[in-house]
Amino acid sequence: MSKTLSVTAIKHGCVIDHIPAGQAIAMLSLLGIARSNFQVTVGINLPSHRSGLKDLIKIEGRDLSENEINEIGVLAPGATINSIKNSEVVKKVVATIPKTISGLLDCPNSNCITHRESIKSHFHVEAAGPKVELKCHYCESSFLKPLQAALLTK
Ligand SMILES: [Zn+2]
Repeated sequence: MSKTLSVTAIKHGCVIDHIPAGQAIAMLSLLGIARSNFQVTVGINLPSHRSGLKDLIKIEGRDLSENEINEIGVLAPGATINSIKNSEVVKKVVATIPKTISGLLDCPNSNCITHRESIKSHFHVEAAGPKVELKCHYCESSFLKPLQAALLTK
């Protein structure tokens, strides 16, 4: 199957391509797509010219916000987000590791102020990938988190 065909098979929406193999499910969880009514096609362990195997997600009728693209960058830096309109790719963005993430995870330090008051969690990203190193903006505790597992239990 040609790459163009697989990317443009939806009419309006987005295609997240070049997701590291095995991470698509965590990404659906991250985006809250699994609990939505959007029409989603997921490809797992597809052949990739770039990295051996890859995952791919197509979402009909939904585009991604800048914040969501940042979140994708934490889990899968290098993933490509294609925006599709009228079956054409109108925008292509490569997800990169963001400098900060907000509201996505809870601080593991139980004494952190974010647990006592209704403050959105805020972390500085020290390192990203399947395991992400985060530093809490409020209590400054650093931790290494297998992000995939953390998101799946949310
Ligand atoms: Zn904290």
